[in-house]
Amino acid sequence: MSGSSASTPQEITVSREQRQMSVRWQDGHHSVFGFDLLRKECPCAMCGDQRRQRAAGGGLDLLVLSGPILRPGEVQATDVKPVGRYALSFVWSDGHDSGIYTFTLLRDLCPCPACRSRAASAAPESGAR
Ligand SMILES: [Zn+2]
Ligand SMILES: [Zn+2]
Repeated sequence: MSGSSASTPQEITVSREQRQMSVRWQDGHHSVFGFDLLRKECPCAMCGDQRRQRAAGGGLDLLVLSGPILRPGEVQATDVKPVGRYALSFVWSDGHDSGIYTFTLLRDLCPCPACRSRAASAAPESGAR
């Protein structure tokens, strides 16, 4: 599955006032990502480890944050930069900046009901590439 137009943004709007990013994709789909979601789904190795440890703990929601604790509703994007033509990099208000959000990942993260039901029917882990 290539789906290049589905993972190619046509227009990206970052609103620090509403704390969300909206993306219009080339296939016409529209995604709105809250900063809380984006920060939580940070794809960097460190945050991935934290998520895996949580999953290994039988769903116990123990989260040890390396930076200042930010409650949902507080995280702010300090900076957003394009990474090449395939990804975005966010600097969060807790100082974390190592996540590279590829457009493919963002499209996968789309929180709209249509994409959520599609993701639920797909395998949750597609394995290592
Ligand atoms: Zn991270
Ligand atoms: Zn969607």
